[in-house]
Amino acid sequence: MGDYQPETIASPTPATPGNQLKDISTNDSGVLYHQLRQKPLNIVGGRGSYLITDDGLEILDATCGAAVSCLGHSDKRVHDAIMEQLQKIPYAYSLYFTNNAAENLSRILVDSTGGKMSRAFIVSSGTEAVEASVKMAMQYFRELPTPQPQRVNFISRTQSYHGNTLGSLAVGHHVARRAIYESILTKNVHHVSQCYPYRGMKDGESTEGYVARLAQELEDKFQSLGPDTVCAFVAETMSGATLGCVPALPGYLKAMKEVCERHGALLILDEVMSGMGRTGTLHAWEQEGVVPDLQTIAKGLGAGYAPIAGLLVNKHVVDTLTRGTGAFAHSQTYQGHPVSCAAAYRVQQIIQEDNLLPNVREMGEYLGRLLHEKLGDNPHVGDIRGRGLFWALEFVQNKSTKESYPPSKKIAWTLHTTGLKPEYAISLMPGNGGADGVNGDHICLAPPYNTTKAEIELIVDRASKVIQEVLG
Ligand code: PLP
Repeated sequence: MGDYQPETIASPTPATPGNQLKDISTNDSGVLYHQLRQKPLNIVGGRGSYLITDDGLEILDATCGAAVSCLGHSDKRVHDAIMEQLQKIPYAYSLYFTNNAAENLSRILVDSTGGKMSRAFIVSSGTEAVEASVKMAMQYFRELPTPQPQRVNFISRTQSYHGNTLGSLAVGHHVARRAIYESILTKNVHHVSQCYPYRGMKDGESTEGYVARLAQELEDKFQSLGPDTVCAFVAETMSGATLGCVPALPGYLKAMKEVCERHGALLILDEVMSGMGRTGTLHAWEQEGVVPDLQTIAKGLGAGYAPIAGLLVNKHVVDTLTRGTGAFAHSQTYQGHPVSCAAAYRVQQIIQEDNLLPNVREMGEYLGRLLHEKLGDNPHVGDIRGRGLFWALEFVQNKSTKESYPPSKKIAWTLHTTGLKPEYAISLMPGNGGADGVNGDHICLAPPYNTTKAEIELIVDRASKVIQEVLG
């Protein structure tokens, strides 16, 4: 794992009790907070796996924010790379120029796929990467030697999340986030079931039987739309925050890709959350025996040191566009941003230099084992699932019927806010199937790739105490 020790920041003052989420009624901040009536904790520092508040509370960041800060919070090597790039050139418009940082980053990304993906298109957020994937898929079919402009439909999965702009929101199926905008979301996105064994598999059904049933559902969807009208099937390689860390069953993605290939449609794998090492291999698809046509990446790419995301593009798509108009009909001001690219390049080097992927696998197994040991018999914990350093606990009112809590109870959010009390000081990632009321509330755990056994034990201990306080 290398011998790098993060720099310690100034010693925090002791935490003041009761300093969690503050009532905003007396607050004159200009920030529009996510929860408009509540001021969140103010983070002023970070050290390894810990966030430090202005009150000096050290919070164990068991989630890397939203599965982002995979090197922890204070890696001086990345700070230095950012400073160096800032001093060379902070910005050069990618419509006119390239820059060394973008060149270096794209090269190692393409090489990391064994050349299966042949270009990287670098943007600033996961949402932008998904939007770019949708647009590139449509352009691809228009620029084939025999164009197929009738391919206007996309198929994705229920309870999925692929971003928050109108296009990416339409591709996903986050009920709560879509609700207000349904009328202006495209109707050309259609949904099939998730691969979600805990609730989707029938009693006595085999893995093969379940996978075959899901593949048939996709086939039926193609048939009902007209197979040659489908542009792409979009799925997370491992379902992340909305469904709660559900690894694909063996053979599932292969079966889905076969359906796509049979009908000439593309496979877009969204690895914004599950990619760049989170599940134990750099690309989550490496464990599935499939190669996507388009792949989105983001969170672990820059580890939160700078906003960055990317679209990795399979060679045959690149070749088609190159022979076609020769330009991707999409450009953004901060595309290939030099400082973000320099940060991400250094992050990716460190993942290799410190040999972090074996640690993700080893600590991930340990985390899974401890969760099962400590919480497997808890009457409120219906399911424990995950892969690599990406695990979730799904909560139910009744373990035998799997009855979930009503979304109005906000169980997952309450677990999150309770975790932030000084006596627990742990950040947990809440979710509830996109608030569709079908699956239970869950919390996800996603520690940094350089986490230790001691930290894993602390995470499980603190999370268990939080669950005990909220659910009894
Ligand atoms: N796709 C997936 C699978 C995600 O989990 C997310 C964010 O959580 C996104 C896309 C959107 O990424 P961003 O929030 O960086 O725009």
